[in-house]
Amino acid sequence: EEARKRKLREVTDLAARVYHHLLMETEHGEAARRYLKERGITPETMVEFQLGYAPDSYHFLRSFLKRRNYDEVLAEEAGLLARRESGRGSGSRFDRFRNRVIFPIHDTQGRVIGFGGRLLGEGQPKYLNSPETALFHKGKFLFNLHRARKAIRSADQAVLFEGYMDVISAWQAGIKNGLANLGTSLTEAQARVIRRNAETAVLCYDSDPAGQNAAERAMEMIREQGCVVKVAQMPPGMDPDDYIRQRGGPAFSGEVIAQALPYVSFKLEVLKEGFDLKDEEGRMRYLTRAVEVIAGLPRAIERDHYLRRLAEEFHLSLDALKQEHRRIASKKK
Ligand code: ATP
Ligand code: MN
Ligand code: MN
Ligand code: MN
Repeated sequence: EEARKRKLREVTDLAARVYHHLLMETEHGEAARRYLKERGITPETMVEFQLGYAPDSYHFLRSFLKRRNYDEVLAEEAGLLARRESGRGSGSRFDRFRNRVIFPIHDTQGRVIGFGGRLLGEGQPKYLNSPETALFHKGKFLFNLHRARKAIRSADQAVLFEGYMDVISAWQAGIKNGLANLGTSLTEAQARVIRRNAETAVLCYDSDPAGQNAAERAMEMIREQGCVVKVAQMPPGMDPDDYIRQRGGPAFSGEVIAQALPYVSFKLEVLKEGFDLKDEEGRMRYLTRAVEVIAGLPRAIERDHYLRRLAEEFHLSLDALKQEHRRIASKKK
C-alpha cells in the first residue's frame, strides 16, 4: 500500500516535471507560454507554480513514461493516462491531459498529488482535473495551501477563490494568502482545514450567478466550522483574475478584500435583490425577512447589532424592530 503510493507519487512528480519542462524550455510549449504571457503571467510565476504544458497528443506522456520504464497501469492509477472503454483500440491507454496548461496541485507537504488542466483557448471542457486517485481527493485538498500557509497564519486570514488563475494572479500581485477548491463545491473537510489555519475567511468568488451560489454554500460551511466569514464583491461580470489584470493588486487588496462584507451584511444585501425597496410595501416585506435572518443568528450580541443597523438604515425605531424580532422568535419555537 505505502509502496504503491510511493510509486504513484514518483510518477506524478515526474509528469509535473516533464510538463513544466515542456512549457518553459521547448518549442512545443511556445503557444502555451504565449497564452500565459497574454494573461499577464510572468516566467517567475510559471516557475513558482511549476506550471506546465501537456501537448496536443494522445501518446506524448504515455511514450515518455514507457521510455522510462514506468508501468501504464501505474500511470492510469495516477490519473495521468485514461483508457478507451469501447470501439477500436478498446482497453488501450492514452494521455488524459492534451493541449492544456497544467496546474500541479500539491498536498500540505508540497508533494504533487494531481493536476488541473486548462485548454489553450476556447473549447470544452475548459478545465479538466485529475480523477480521484489514491493520492488525490478533490474534497480534501485546497489548491495552494502549502505555499499560502505561512501568509494565512500571519494574517490570520485566508482568501478563498473559485479558480486556479485567480489564486495565481493574486499571488503575483502580492496577495499570498489565496486558496482555491478543486472544481467541486467546498466540503466540510476543506472548511475545517481553513479554520485550522485562519480566524477569518474572505470569499472571493466570481460575480456571476454560479459564483454567487457557490459563495453562499461555502460561507455557511466555513461559518459552521467557526470562522469569521466575509464576502468580497466583484463588479458584474468579473472574476478576481480579471479585476487584478485591469486594476492591479493594490486596488484589489484595498477595494475588494478590505471592503468584503461580513457574512450577515452580505446576506442582508443579497436579500434586498428580491424586493422593491422604493416601494413602501416592498420595504416592509424586506424588513420582515431581514428580521427573520437576524433572528436565526446564534449570538445575542450579533442579533442586537444587526437590528440596530437595520433600524438606522431604514429610519425605524429600534423598539419596533425588536417587537418584530420577538414576534418572529416566538413563532420559531
Ligand atoms: P479562466 O479564467 O481560465 O477562463 P476561471 O478560473 O475563471 O477560468 P471559471 O469558469 O470561473 O474559470 O471556473 C472556476 C473554476 O471552476 C475553474 O478554475 C476550475 O477549477 C473549475 N471549473 C470550471 N469549469 C470546469 C469544468 N468543466 N470541469 C471541472 N472544473 C471546472
Ligand atoms: Mn465563473
Ligand atoms: Mn472565473
Ligand atoms: Mn477567469
